[in-house]
This record gives sequence, C-alpha cells and structure tokens, in this order.
Amino acid sequence: MPSAFKKKPPSPTNAVVVTYPKKNLATQSYVPEIVKGLAVSMRHFFTNTKEMVLGQRPDPTTERYSAGVSTISYPEQKRPYPERFRGVHRLTTRDDGSVRCVACLCCSTACPAQCIFIEAGEYPEGDKRRGYERFPVKFVIDELRCIFCGYCVEACPCDAIRMDTGMHAVPYDSRDQFVYAKDQLLAFTATDGTKKTANPRHEPGDATHPGLSRDHVHH
Ligand code: SF4
Ligand code: SF4
Repeated sequence: MPSAFKKKPPSPTNAVVVTYPKKNLATQSYVPEIVKGLAVSMRHFFTNTKEMVLGQRPDPTTERYSAGVSTISYPEQKRPYPERFRGVHRLTTRDDGSVRCVACLCCSTACPAQCIFIEAGEYPEGDKRRGYERFPVKFVIDELRCIFCGYCVEACPCDAIRMDTGMHAVPYDSRDQFVYAKDQLLAFTATDGTKKTANPRHEPGDATHPGLSRDHVHH
C-alpha cells in the first residue's frame, strides 16, 4: 500500500557516523581490555582495604550519595528515613494505656483503598466515657491494600492513628499476615520507641473536656 506520507531522508546533522573498529591482534585477543578491567578492580580493592585499615571508611548509609555509592548491607544497614516517612500504622494510647481511638470511622471513610475495618462498641455502664465516645472492638488494617496515602492519619480527630513507626510491611508469605488487628497496631511504637502522641487528650469528666455535659441534655 502506498504511504500517505513521504519518507524523510536522514538529516545530515543528526546522523552519527560510527567507524568500525579496526581489528588487530590486541582487539581480537581482548588482553588489553581484560588488563584494564583488572586494574580498576585492584584499584578499588586497595583503596577500600586502606580505608578499612585506617578507619577512614565512610558510612554508606549517610555519606557518599553524590559519589554514587548505592550499595549497603540491608537490613543490617539502613538509610535514615525522612522525618515524615509513612510506615506501617500504629494505634496510639491514652495515659491509662487504653486505646485512644473513639471508633468514629472517619479514617475508614476517608480511606481510598477501603482497607480499614472498624467494629465500634460502647463502654460499659459506669465508665465515664459511656455516652460520650465509643471504642473499637475490632480495628483491622490490610496493609497490602493500603496505598500509604496518609488520609486516615489526617482524618482522625483524636490523633489515634499514626504512620510514624518507621517500619515497612514485612515481606510475609501469605496475604492474611498483612492484615494487622488492633492488638498488633497497639503494640507498635513510634520511631523513638514511645507509644504516646504529642497531643493532650481531654477525657470525658475532666474539666478540660470540651464536650457538653450529658447532665444537662434533659433540661
Ligand atoms: S494510608 Fe491511605 S490507603 Fe492506607 S489505610 Fe490510611 S487512608 Fe487507607
Ligand atoms: S482512628 Fe481516629 S479516625 Fe479512625 S475511628 Fe479511631 S478516632 Fe476515628
């Protein structure tokens, strides 16, 4: 079939002339190139050995980025993550160690991957939180479906869910192992090893609690 467009002749300005290498004994035998390669390897070997003996070896996790040194012995060596790195989630706790989450479902509603499942429950009779807030009977996150967008953390009004563990999801061998339940999420700590949040928590009944007193609702 005739082409609708005329074929352009090659542009002389773009053409690169590659000369065929002249074959002689040196190129055919590869010996000079092998010697050159060995020389490079030996240069690195002696430089590295000297630096190791003299204790001058740079820390590959924090130095020599610009020199292109990109190999580290992971996981024994790890590059420091940025402060705002989003890792595996954790649930934060109150001063008494109970879960801080009030099961409002804001996080699971905001989650675009729909990977958070929460079953809310009421605090028992006599608990000062009953009637003010609920708690998660079940709190489950499927870390395999999570896209680590951080919307859940942003949506939470209680600073009850965070992604500051500094951890990757571990490479498990079955899908159900990526589904973290409440106890696991509560057990994780922040990168500094603490479980607390930075924000104060105003408990129902405290003078600082901003909610209405339920004593007045029937007046
Ligand atoms: S980080 Fe994003 S995708 Fe993952 S659980 Fe939170 S809201 Fe859902
Ligand atoms: S983690 Fe926060 S947003 Fe999610 S249900 Fe609990 S209190 Fe609500």
